Amino acid sequence: MSLGEFDVINTYFKRPAKHTSVIQSVGDDCAVLSIPENHQLVVSMDTLVAGRHFPKDASPEHIAQRAFCTCLSDLAAMGAAPQWFTLGLTLPESDSIWLQSFSESLLNIADEYQCDLVGGDTTQGPLTITLQVHGLVKAGCALTRSAAQAGDKVFVTGCLGDGAAALEVLLNPSIKVDVAVQEYLSQRFYCPEPQIKSGRLLVDYANAAIDISDGLLSDCQHIANASAVDIKIDVSKIPLSSAYRAVVNEAAIDKALVGGDDYQLVFTVSEQHYSSVNRFIKDKVLDATEIGQVLNSRSAKPVVHCVDSQGVIDIKIKQGYQHFAS
Ligand code: ADP
Ligand code: MG
Repeated sequence: MSLGEFDVINTYFKRPAKHTSVIQSVGDDCAVLSIPENHQLVVSMDTLVAGRHFPKDASPEHIAQRAFCTCLSDLAAMGAAPQWFTLGLTLPESDSIWLQSFSESLLNIADEYQCDLVGGDTTQGPLTITLQVHGLVKAGCALTRSAAQAGDKVFVTGCLGDGAAALEVLLNPSIKVDVAVQEYLSQRFYCPEPQIKSGRLLVDYANAAIDISDGLLSDCQHIANASAVDIKIDVSKIPLSSAYRAVVNEAAIDKALVGGDDYQLVFTVSEQHYSSVNRFIKDKVLDATEIGQVLNSRSAKPVVHCVDSQGVIDIKIKQGYQHFAS
């Protein structure tokens, strides 16, 4: 069945807001939102285009989950608490089966992360999803890429390389893995878990943070550039999942260093907060591993280098995907 624009909005995207901060939601010209005193608004937008960011025949559940989780991951990297989001939806047709499944998946994640859908735009055209997420942080406390200091230790949440291992399995059906590994990796890929809890905890303890979308080394390079520091990573300390080890040759650490799509957080911690962060890890309040350190930059161009027990090793950093790059 094909529905008109307003039927689409009213049927699939209009529902009562959960936060009392939402004064006006879907249905007027703008949303009206209250920001609590002494807080700042943290905003991020992502656009996903069919055939470019996801296969044209990807399921609506997978599109919704991946789009929303990766967008929320940016809020996690700033240490923000999700509050509201808006949805720009361009559809080739208003297919009610597609819309039912897309909106259900999207709104389930909205519930899980307590993020109210407060508006959007619905148009006809090639399938494109734009999400804008809004979060809150205590004023002046957002975690940034530019606050790393020489002497900080570098940590990463969770395990690295699962995104790359998942892609390997998805693209090469000849790779045989058992069902549990396949399910774990598929979940990691289509529904990466935004590290909101860790980000919020780290607001008072980390200096710099970023979420890993392009790959650990590329994203560390962003911190190094923004903070004008060098970063040293000890590759023997990189946390790997058993699924990664099952799919990727265990000796091949490269995918965990340069493969993207992990959506874990890399963060740096000064000496002052080092013992608190280690206590959180020990108490299992925070799932993170120390993997390196921040050093004074020895040249005008900040460097990320990798070491193992033999000394410095050379790993080619794959540039993150850049649109319009020739
Ligand atoms: P306007 O013409 O004033 O820009 P629209 O007709 O585009 O408003 O949208 C009507 C209402 O529905 C607005 O509140 C808008 O935020 C909301 N809306 C439109 N599309 C979506 C969507 N895909 N998801 C959520 N809200 C939407
Ligand atoms: Mg209007």
